[in-house]
Amino acid sequence: MALRVQKFGGTSVADITHIRNVAKRVIETYDGGDNIVVVLSAMAGVTNNLISMAKEASKAPDKRELDVLLATGEQTTAAVLAIILKSMGYKAISLLGFQAGILTDTTPGKARIVDIETKRMEKLLEDRHILVVAGFQGHNTHGDITTLGRGGSDTTAVAIAAALKADVCEIFTDVDGVYTTDPRICSKAKKIDMISYEEMLEMAILGAKVLQIRSVEFAKKYNVPLHVRSSFNKEEGTMVINETEDMESVVVAGVTCDMNEARITLKRVPDQPGISAKIFTPLAKEKITVDMIIQNTRVGGETDLSFTVTKNDFEKAFAISKAVAKEIGAEDVLTADEEIAKVSVIGLGMKSHSGVAATMFQTLADENINIRLISTSEIRISCIIKAKYAELAVRALHTAFGLDKKDQ
Ligand code: ADP
Ligand code: ASP
Ligand code: MG
Repeated sequence: MALRVQKFGGTSVADITHIRNVAKRVIETYDGGDNIVVVLSAMAGVTNNLISMAKEASKAPDKRELDVLLATGEQTTAAVLAIILKSMGYKAISLLGFQAGILTDTTPGKARIVDIETKRMEKLLEDRHILVVAGFQGHNTHGDITTLGRGGSDTTAVAIAAALKADVCEIFTDVDGVYTTDPRICSKAKKIDMISYEEMLEMAILGAKVLQIRSVEFAKKYNVPLHVRSSFNKEEGTMVINETEDMESVVVAGVTCDMNEARITLKRVPDQPGISAKIFTPLAKEKITVDMIIQNTRVGGETDLSFTVTKNDFEKAFAISKAVAKEIGAEDVLTADEEIAKVSVIGLGMKSHSGVAATMFQTLADENINIRLISTSEIRISCIIKAKYAELAVRALHTAFGLDKKDQ
């Protein structure tokens, strides 16, 4: 008997009809003899609606109460699925985050799972219950409800799979698997049969929202085999697994695009020790994550310093930069741009193949797209460009790196 964790995303539980289909799918596996933990998202659009409601109630909703509100989306779907399964005569039970023993840190809105107390779930599974866990939520040491950040149900599923040592964690979603790029942007995108944790992690970090970043980190750390597949058909999806030898022969596995960043630039700041620390220390204190940082030295002892933050953090980051700029006399040279996109190419093969950067830059040049910032790691290259060219860039890069589907 195997233990499977099956997570269904928002579009897969969009209404009662969809939830009935989920019930059918779960039962098929259960009747086959396997034990199952189902993890559910809120119905598609519900989390967004709840956020809007909170913003209507207050310009800056209290973060603790916002978590209480947002967690209701998943509470609803978990209860409804359990009701359906029970009405069909199955032993099922819904579990909210705290009932499933999911303990998180105290950061509201993007809490991290620190431990899962599995006793209750184990006992219920021994007794052949189908567990229906509300995704995206946990509780902290103060006994308060927390949420795990957008897309957090993926992380609930993988963390539970790791804690219970499940045989597989299946992520059921509205696409057939992980594609070479977002199929909504590029119709020539191909489904990938197998991808390494490392590449998947980079793709998630760089904007492929098919899996939440933290879920891939968990899967990699605890070696959880992940199967990303469609909830609307029975096709095999994408296996996310440890790197195999032939994976390095693929130079570029995927192309991503992230529209969620903004750039801040300080021009002609004094080129002297301590200036960067003056800017980045207060940002860190505010828990603002800085992504790209580029510094150019000019002749004459001055530098231009650019960095990117998420759009969510932009206002705060800009206010901090303004204060620092004033302090160091660079106030009138502070600029910002929220209309940017980060396009990236990712592949393990970059470790052993040269020329990827050249091909990327030439492809963007051929489309007349100006590159604003560049950053690289061992297995990826990212460029910041104007937001309006994002889709064009993704498609051009997809073609240039030979990723297009053959039959189109
Ligand atoms: P769910 O609600 O099931 O969690 P998400 O909307 O979070 O689903 O993630 C699935 C979506 O991710 C797809 O509909 C697709 O548009 C998007 N996506 C972005 N990049 C990729 C990619 N490389 N492969 C597959 N899907 C991707
Ligand atoms: N409902 C949450 C969201 O929309 C979590 C999830 O679906 O994974 O982000
Ligand atoms: Mg998701």
